[in-house]
Amino acid sequence: MKKLISFVLRTVPRPVLQRVSHYAMKVMAVFYRGDKVECTVCGSHFREFLPYGRNVARPNALCPSCLSLERHRLMNLYLKRRTNFYQAPLKVLHVAPEHCFIDRFEKLPNLDYITADIESPLAKVKMDIHQIPFPDNTFDVAFCNHVMEHVDNDIQAGSELYRVLKPGGWAIIQSPVDYSRPTTYEDATITDPREREKHFWQSDHVRLFGQDYAERLAKGGFTVQEDRFVFELPKEEVQRYALPGGEIIYFCQKEK
Ligand SMILES: [Zn+2]
Repeated sequence: MKKLISFVLRTVPRPVLQRVSHYAMKVMAVFYRGDKVECTVCGSHFREFLPYGRNVARPNALCPSCLSLERHRLMNLYLKRRTNFYQAPLKVLHVAPEHCFIDRFEKLPNLDYITADIESPLAKVKMDIHQIPFPDNTFDVAFCNHVMEHVDNDIQAGSELYRVLKPGGWAIIQSPVDYSRPTTYEDATITDPREREKHFWQSDHVRLFGQDYAERLAKGGFTVQEDRFVFELPKEEVQRYALPGGEIIYFCQKEK
């Protein structure tokens, strides 16, 4: 099963995958019926989550109901417990929106919610994050996850997100980080997909962030809080929701 899932993820184009997976998952949900794990995004519970991963499939990762992964369940729990996201009237920019969030966030009555992406047909606004087509001080909240490791200039992208946020606004900007690496590793001469995969963890990544990830976000103007939210949760919750136990949340604020 793990090998099959890795193979499918590597070979089938993403838009096809997203369309087909919806039906396949409905079938899988029946086989995974149970109550050992629970999804913080859709509320469904299962015997376990599905394995997922491009190279080596991680066990207990993908929710068969809403397709959330560990990191999505962590972000949603964080939003519920540590922010005003579900209560306050907020104007939100969601860059490269994750499939499991789009419909849910669109329906939230307190939000004015805008999705944006450079290519994804799931997003409403087509845009390049290096030049966000909105005026200064437009949004209360921005999400931009698993984007910064792909873009030409992550510092510029960060300062653009900062620019379009209102004073007092906040953003969550997550990326894969190699916590064992003191500084970010970039090498523009590495362009071959196989080489990129070897050096930067995925064939379409152009850098691998290190312990200075927060400093790079701060270069855009943000005050960055490295929130170890998941480290403080009871073990039972980390297991129940199958959360990424070592992931730091980068909570980025624009001063009032
Ligand atoms: Zn779910």
